[in-house]
Amino acid sequence: MADPVQSTSTASSAILPTYARAPVAFERGEGCWLEATDGTRWLDFGAGIAVASVGHSHPHVVEALVEQGKKLWHVSNLYQIPQAERLARRLVEATFADYVFFTNSGAEALEGAIKTARKYQFADGHPERVEIITFDGAFHGRTLSTIAAGGNDKYIEGFFAPVEGFHRKVPFGDIEAVKAAVNDRTAAILVEPIQGEGGIRVPPANFLRELRKLCDERHILLVLDEVQSGMGRTGKLFAYMHSGVEPDIMSVAKGIGAGFPLGAFLTTKEAGKGMVAGTHGTTYGGNPLATAVGNAVLDLVLAPGFLDRVARTGLLLKQRLAALADAHPAVIAGIRGEGLMLGLKIRDEVPVGDLAVAVRGQHMLVIPAAENVARLLPPLTIGESEIDEGMKRLDRACADIERGLAAKQGEKAQ
Ligand SMILES: *Cc1c(COP(=O)(O)O)cnc(C)c1O
Repeated sequence: MADPVQSTSTASSAILPTYARAPVAFERGEGCWLEATDGTRWLDFGAGIAVASVGHSHPHVVEALVEQGKKLWHVSNLYQIPQAERLARRLVEATFADYVFFTNSGAEALEGAIKTARKYQFADGHPERVEIITFDGAFHGRTLSTIAAGGNDKYIEGFFAPVEGFHRKVPFGDIEAVKAAVNDRTAAILVEPIQGEGGIRVPPANFLRELRKLCDERHILLVLDEVQSGMGRTGKLFAYMHSGVEPDIMSVAKGIGAGFPLGAFLTTKEAGKGMVAGTHGTTYGGNPLATAVGNAVLDLVLAPGFLDRVARTGLLLKQRLAALADAHPAVIAGIRGEGLMLGLKIRDEVPVGDLAVAVRGQHMLVIPAAENVARLLPPLTIGESEIDEGMKRLDRACADIERGLAAKQGEKAQ
């Protein structure tokens, strides 16, 4: 059997080296499992970073892809697209929104959401309201304006003057700090209901409610980035549905296409009133192939019982992780998150990258995030036996880390 470390050379790659890629390549996927090029089976608790929402190669989604693929892949948005009309209608019926605009990625969904918020203020007679308030630890994508919106200075450095119009790095979850940041130039507040890249950070329970109240009082828009937290990830279709309040605009991607590049931003009629014919566009966004897949994903996520099952499975996984943390206090400092958007806070002594390597040693995938957190974002379809298997592998990985720590202690004592 070929060693995956040997068979995937990164030194000779022609791909721009912006990722430090793990030395493994996958060839097939089914549900929560991946098969590598060397035939080994891997348990996927990352789902391509919350993308493979209904598992890899779900037959219903594959069928929709193949059927549509045989008929028509692409037509321009210059014409009617029934698959997109249907998906938009279903998203509107399931959410706060009146309109949907389809994109090909999360960052594009954010770009559209930001444009919509500013254009609303412009159309509403407040062209001076251009500033968007964003948070420390926030991640909204890698385009020039979404890095300017995000909370990570490293993503901005060297790319010339950051796009203007963002009031960045307001303390996440701190409503008083947000109030202090609002001024007469504020157009909107942009926030993830639960921060993903930031380390599965869950704000205080009333944070969204208080943001909504503040937005209403100051005539500014609440824009939610549900690219990671949406499409059932937290046990509701969207994470805002836990809060009892609704946004004006929302960005979606990742899980909506289950791996097919698809995103969207959604808006109320009022917040979208500036976005008239000619104000925005996309060549691929919402094409027949992408939206046929999106509809198939939605069939599964909206099927009776699916979201309740995600919530129940999330609770079970959280309980099992708490037991794992009890068994490995030298490695795990705590558990965070909601539904199947969970994080293991790893002790400072253990870089989360080291844990991810140890977990890979057990042929399992988890995703590092900021604050030294390992994200667990399995397919929403994960079953109890796969959770059992995942716990065994995480347990062995933690034991490996502990052996490493003990060896280091031994060296120091010498
Ligand atoms: C992944 C992510 C994005 C960016 O999505 P891309 O498809 O990579 O452009 C934006 N916001 C959040 C919250 C994300 O998790």
